[in-house]
Amino acid sequence: MTDIRSYFPLLSQTVNGKPLVYLDNAATAQKPQAVIDVVNELHASLNGNIHRGIHYMAEQCTARYEAARERIRAYINAEKAHEVIFTAGTTAGVNLVAFAFGERYVRAGDEVVVTEMEHHSNIVPWQLLCERKGATLKVLPLTDSGELRMDRLPALLSHKTRLLAVAQVSNVLGTVNPLEEIIRIAHAAGVPVLVDGAQGVQHGRTDVRQLGCDFYAFSGHKIYAPTGVGALYAKEKFLDEMPPYQGGGDMIKTVTFAKTTYADLPYKFEAGTANYVGAIGLGAAIAFLETLDAAALQAHEQQLLRYATERLQRINGLTIYGSAPQKGSIVSFSLSGIHHLDVAQILDKLGVAVRSGTLCAEPVMQRYGVTGMARASFAFYNTLHEVDALAEGLEKAKKLITN
Ligand code: PMP
Repeated sequence: MTDIRSYFPLLSQTVNGKPLVYLDNAATAQKPQAVIDVVNELHASLNGNIHRGIHYMAEQCTARYEAARERIRAYINAEKAHEVIFTAGTTAGVNLVAFAFGERYVRAGDEVVVTEMEHHSNIVPWQLLCERKGATLKVLPLTDSGELRMDRLPALLSHKTRLLAVAQVSNVLGTVNPLEEIIRIAHAAGVPVLVDGAQGVQHGRTDVRQLGCDFYAFSGHKIYAPTGVGALYAKEKFLDEMPPYQGGGDMIKTVTFAKTTYADLPYKFEAGTANYVGAIGLGAAIAFLETLDAAALQAHEQQLLRYATERLQRINGLTIYGSAPQKGSIVSFSLSGIHHLDVAQILDKLGVAVRSGTLCAEPVMQRYGVTGMARASFAFYNTLHEVDALAEGLEKAKKLITN
């Protein structure tokens, strides 16, 4: 782990006079030097707007942008590179589908299904769509342990259901959802599935063809790439049939005031100057991940999860939310008698960064009857020693507030 950590320059800092213990990886992950170098290189010595110029700078940037697309295609095992659309992130990808899919397929009286564990980014775009179209949003509920009520799924899907949107991994409860089963059930009912991969893509390989999902959205910044870029995988059939989401440069074939025709895939869905620096950085992040032993890193993350769960459970008055047998390395909790914001603030003074609040998932807070939670989320560069620092920090917070 010492070796891995040395790739991430930010991790060796001190914060508030203490060594930084960065446990907010579900919010955003830190960047390896390889990604920082690529972004710097582009800004310092290789910059030209893609797909437009025929000069050296533009051509080089375009080639590298398209190479990044191909790298993502291979990484998630999409069939075709043009099924990968560059976006600003997961939220942008979900909004793209909610708008364009909605325009094409959703009518008054139709239904869209989400789950009770979704991040706001996978709820609100569907609510907006339902409002626009006079459709209804249906919700698949959770069990107390934070798993989807799979027994309720078949009855939620009907001839009115146009789409099911579900997280790969819950950003609060850590639950890894049984996607293959969900997709099988949905497809049997003729319902396409969008997977929010924001918390899944960084924890081992996702194969969109094996899953069979129709849409898969993720963010670069959570997979060690720059902020402001992400990708949306969509089956060609849908991309062909859906109207463009945004209009502008690059997404057209010809423009006249009488009629505009649209560019071929994937450009039909990439209006305006893309974040090509970010996209090339995302390619570099994936290239970096490909040099590592994914299975070993995942095993280490699971070890961190087990150790943190055991260690935190021993703290009197601490409640962990989410105990699914299949969990990503996320531990959300509350400490009785101490507000979650105070927990995070005291930990910050000790150099320990955790997230606190509603975690962009207010329905999950409502499900568990709390106003917020604190959350520690681990990446492969975290150590067992850092879990100890978290636990010790929590004991200190308890003493400070309850004495
Ligand atoms: N879905 C989930 C499950 C997430 O955890 C997040 C990020 N917290 C998002 C969607 C939104 O990601 P972004 O803000 O990068 O668009």
